[in-house]
Amino acid sequence: MKHPILNSVTTLLLVASLMGCNADKTQTQQSDLDPSKEAIFPKGELGPATNFTGNVYNFGLVADDSIYNTLVGNVFFEKGARSNWHIHPSGQILIVLDGEGYHQLEGQPRHFMRKGDVVKCPANVKHWHGATENTTLTQMYILPKTENGIVTWMEPVTDEQYTSNK
Ligand code: MN
Repeated sequence: MKHPILNSVTTLLLVASLMGCNADKTQTQQSDLDPSKEAIFPKGELGPATNFTGNVYNFGLVADDSIYNTLVGNVFFEKGARSNWHIHPSGQILIVLDGEGYHQLEGQPRHFMRKGDVVKCPANVKHWHGATENTTLTQMYILPKTENGIVTWMEPVTDEQYTSNK
């Protein structure tokens, strides 16, 4: 049996939620201009130029300890910014929280990644990750088995390597 008052309430809620959706869309468009406004985590500390090209910020979320042996943090890459080539002795998992970027394993094509993507970088495989030329990238990283080490930094990713999708 249909209840006329409940139906009216349902209709009102539906209209209200549709209006809410429109409001959210406006906010998303504003945040495209300044991604940090609605960021989940603080921007963090600027990474050293010896390990990155462009401005890259790190915010630690889970400190390494002898119980979990896992390091978790969030990295914000400005447009065009990327890591140097590097290796993780036990691999790394990336979770893209916002924006768009690239990651590349040595000897393989550059891969595109966007918000919601989960990427595994295998143990001891040389790789890099960063934002695209035109978008920022916010990515969480999970580094397991830190008893084996965390990262070995290598040479910068050249502009030619960065822009090549082969
Ligand atoms: Mn990495």
